[in-house]
Amino acid sequence: MEDYDEFRIYSVAVDPEYCPQCGSEVGSREFDGGPMDWCGDCEMVFARTPVSAVHVVVRDDDHVLLLDEPIPQHDGVLSLPGGHAHHDEGPREAVLRELQEETALAATSDALSLVTVYHAETDAVAFHFATYALDYADATGTLAPEADGFEIRRELVDDVIDGVVPIRDSDRERVAAAFDRENPV
Ligand SMILES: [Zn+2]
Repeated sequence: MEDYDEFRIYSVAVDPEYCPQCGSEVGSREFDGGPMDWCGDCEMVFARTPVSAVHVVVRDDDHVLLLDEPIPQHDGVLSLPGGHAHHDEGPREAVLRELQEETALAATSDALSLVTVYHAETDAVAFHFATYALDYADATGTLAPEADGFEIRRELVDDVIDGVVPIRDSDRERVAAAFDRENPV
């Protein structure tokens, strides 16, 4: 077993080319689990970890709120309100902040129920999305999109689950779970 007291562990979201601390080129070192990014000057191993992120499924009777945002990562699909958590906030705080930013709705933490934590991964970065459900009736405020050209859509949950509404499979799965419905996909 490695003695982890002998070096420091530096958590990163993406594989670094240069050490964020000293600027040296990042090398590689063998550990129990295989090669890991390593700065020999700092005696520091880089551990790539998922970014903490949040989503919320807002339930309005048999409808769900979805965002239509003309930005590259949501091209051609509607998406759930949500985003990255800040380092100093918990997932409930983060999801309430994102909800407010993206829809102008406000809610309290006890109105949220945890649906699932979803792991998503690209070549560059991985995420853990804590996904909450919120009943629209428990929110206050008037729906307003975040920016010009952005839209908030109120879609029938049946249409979302049946694939009539363009949405990512992972989002459809979580909408179904938040409504206690079987996901046909
Ligand atoms: Zn270094």
